[in-house]
Amino acid sequence: HAPAHFRALLEMSRFHDDKVFLVYEDEHLTFEDVFRRAATLAGRLVEEYGVTKGDRVAVAMRNYPEWVISFSAVLAAGAIAVPLNAWWTEPELTYGVRDSGAKLLIADGERASRLTSTGVPLIVTRGEVPAGARAFDDVLGEVTADVRLPDVRLSPDDPATIFYTSGTTGNPKGALGSHRNLGQSPMTVAYGLLRAVAMAGKDVAAATGTRRITLLTVPLFHVTGCFSAMTTTMFSGGGLVLMYKWDPGQALRLIEREKVTAMIGVPTSAWQLMSHPDFGRHDLSSLTTVGYGGAPAPPKLLERITENLPERAPSNGYGMTETTALAIGHGGADYQARPDSIGLPSPVVDVRVVDPMGEEVPPGEVGELCVRGPNVIMGYWNKPEATAETFVGGWLHTGDLAKIDEEGFVYIVDRAKDMVIRGGENVYCAEVEAALFEHPAVDDAAVIGVPHDELGEEVGAVIRLAPGQSVTPEGLRTFLADRIAKFKIPVHVWFRDTELPRNPGGKILKTRLRREILGP
Ligand code: ATP
Ligand code: MG
Repeated sequence: HAPAHFRALLEMSRFHDDKVFLVYEDEHLTFEDVFRRAATLAGRLVEEYGVTKGDRVAVAMRNYPEWVISFSAVLAAGAIAVPLNAWWTEPELTYGVRDSGAKLLIADGERASRLTSTGVPLIVTRGEVPAGARAFDDVLGEVTADVRLPDVRLSPDDPATIFYTSGTTGNPKGALGSHRNLGQSPMTVAYGLLRAVAMAGKDVAAATGTRRITLLTVPLFHVTGCFSAMTTTMFSGGGLVLMYKWDPGQALRLIEREKVTAMIGVPTSAWQLMSHPDFGRHDLSSLTTVGYGGAPAPPKLLERITENLPERAPSNGYGMTETTALAIGHGGADYQARPDSIGLPSPVVDVRVVDPMGEEVPPGEVGELCVRGPNVIMGYWNKPEATAETFVGGWLHTGDLAKIDEEGFVYIVDRAKDMVIRGGENVYCAEVEAALFEHPAVDDAAVIGVPHDELGEEVGAVIRLAPGQSVTPEGLRTFLADRIAKFKIPVHVWFRDTELPRNPGGKILKTRLRREILGP
């Protein structure tokens, strides 16, 4: 009765026992290594910590192999895995522990010191073990070949995970996902990958004949990292290269050293990889696909990839914590033909666009995107009101404004909360940002609403210039005049040298940016 995730690990350890599953710096762990450790740890969680079905166990660490081992062990013990955001400060981590009601915490040394005040039993890896906590390796003890899995009965509709949303628009919400949600995720991703390869005019059988080695450029504690990359790699017997944190120079070295075939991340990771001074000094010939999602991808990104990394089957995917990662996506010819679209819904997903009254709008009209399917989570943990508001009549209301064309391709125009309303006219930040990215001097851009007495809001843009480049606000406005309507052109332009504040999902923290620029 092993849950789907763990069954995959078990199967891979049988059929690909000596293949490397996880790479971290110079550590290489085979499927067998990961399976044995995870199964052993699952047993310890049950015997020594009394973990039972439905208990929450939180995991708070960087992308170490122990993250994957712990996550797998918690599921095998029948408990609910609660990945906590490793970027969180002590109060935020405490919120995650209290909100989820975690019975046990597994953390790295850095996170452990921020977690001791919760008083919840703590297992620590990589770093100092605070008083009262136990070292990961001690808990694990001897790892032998004849591991016995805990005897738990799980059905696909039992809860498996609580992932916290990114907190872009408010406080992060715990998204309660089932084993069914988790199990469908690799299928959706696999379908998308195979389709992207086929749509690039390549032979799927030939492309899948090589072992897929994925470079993970985003954290495991968000769904893109965990599901689109980690579980999908596990289910398909591939290899996953982990990084302590995103670093484009290091990524270039790892692609060459580990013969990475696929890179998965956010749009900015692909952008920064190509902007790095060492790009072009490394052998990237192994790389066959570049996939990204989780934040708006400007059409300019696709153009740059086509130019700098030709024949790489780029793909763009849309998903949310609430949709267990990928829900809508495309690659290859479809994407090249519609660089501003996020693609077609996964075959198991229903989508529609509705007006504020909840009525479906005709093709081409903008409204709120709604999603339904086996990937949609059970609801928010501990938040009945938010659950009732967001999940209506079986449909997940995404909070994203979108349109669907006659052929079914979906276009995200903006997050409802990001849109600038200028004198009654809607200005979609994502559209203005995409136009700004076309300018060669723009390395990064964020569009925000600036309070205005008469109009309510005016359009403002924060620009990070590309190294060695310059442009005046007037120059930018002239450039935009050919591309977007006059009322959308930023009246205020701020230049800055530092990186724009982003969360680990690659999204610009607009609330923070607005506060930094306009004051509280
Ligand atoms: P919170 O819900 O806590 O405010 P969040 O919505 O940013 O945070 P996530 O679940 O990580 O948390 O992100 C989902 C959102 O990311 C979507 O609602 C959408 O706005 C955005 N998004 C995801 N993929 C894409 C994409 N390919 N293109 C444009 N936007 C995307
Ligand atoms: Mg959200």
